[in-house]
Amino acid sequence: MWKHLFMRVRGQKRKRKLRHLLSGFHKSTQALPDAVIVFNDKGQVEWGNIVARQVIGLERKRDRDRMINDLISAQRFQDYYAEADYQHPLHIDSPVNDSIRLEIRIVPYGKAKFLLQARDVTRLQQLETVRKDFVANVSHEMRTPLTVIHGYLESMGESGDAGLDAWQNAIHRMRQQTGRVQRIVGDLLLLSRLEGSEQMDGQEHVDVPGILEVIKEEALTLSKGQHQITANIDENLKLQGRTSELESAFSNLVFNAVRYTPAEGSIHLRWWASKRGPCFMVRDTGIGIELEHIPRLAERFYRVDVGRSRQSGGTGLGLAIVKHVLTRHDAQLKIESEPGKGSSFRCNFPESRHLSQ
Ligand code: ADP
Repeated sequence: MWKHLFMRVRGQKRKRKLRHLLSGFHKSTQALPDAVIVFNDKGQVEWGNIVARQVIGLERKRDRDRMINDLISAQRFQDYYAEADYQHPLHIDSPVNDSIRLEIRIVPYGKAKFLLQARDVTRLQQLETVRKDFVANVSHEMRTPLTVIHGYLESMGESGDAGLDAWQNAIHRMRQQTGRVQRIVGDLLLLSRLEGSEQMDGQEHVDVPGILEVIKEEALTLSKGQHQITANIDENLKLQGRTSELESAFSNLVFNAVRYTPAEGSIHLRWWASKRGPCFMVRDTGIGIELEHIPRLAERFYRVDVGRSRQSGGTGLGLAIVKHVLTRHDAQLKIESEPGKGSSFRCNFPESRHLSQ
């Protein structure tokens, strides 16, 4: 009898403690600026905070046990939920207000429970759009005046009637600099076009061997006979994608190899069908890159040595373009390098992009 009573008191104490814990959890989640919804492994909603009512439209009493994919009916959420791969967040419009943009994350926890967190990223997304538009507009506005100035400078330099030698020198420098800004503007415009749409529309059959043949010729011209340039190209290997984009990506990699390899060095291009899918690689015996720089190379304007990049006609945007183009082709860039020995840049395409004849 005593034992029984003792057990009951202990059980009540435990219950009180649990209730206390739960109310603590609810209070802290309630205080979060993000929407939070708890659901179980069947997808039934168990709980949500006040923000979930404001941005997802959850009514706690009415919606208890309602299916989460019924509450958020956007098709993209349906696919995300069905795939159950929650590594990356999902961006959708709020189900109750389409001027609010939400970033949704789902985290499994405890025994068969899931926490859905929705953050209002409207402002962030607006800023990102403003940034993209700004870069695109500035580049666009600068292009025409630059072309005009560069054109006049070119003809003044060629006609040779600018008089004084001092002017010839100045004209030459001005031509160089306007040419440099023209290349930057061109690369910025290309980048904003690549950023503009995540998906590529209008895919083509891309004759990669043909592209590489031309790039190799151009590399020989750029090298002015200072490097040995060789290639091993599978003539039958073609891709599904965008010719102009792949041309930009491959030429950036090959021209970089020429620009960052001192005279007498060698450069090798390879295009082949690996077990995992088509691969393009450029290997050089150039200056190489310290390990710490490698993860940042594809950032805009990131250069290991700004002076060297400029002096060899770089814009600091080449690898950012390569990265974007590859992402749009579901491909990956792998960089290996050893300072003083050389580098290799490898583009791995998935088998699904391989065009069978
Ligand atoms: P840049 O126009 O400056 O070459 P990129 O975006 O093409 O800009 O490359 C970024 C930086 O990566 C370069 O400034 C250079 O420091 C380094 N880099 C790129 N390719 C090579 C290479 N083949 N060998 C050594 N360094 C390289």
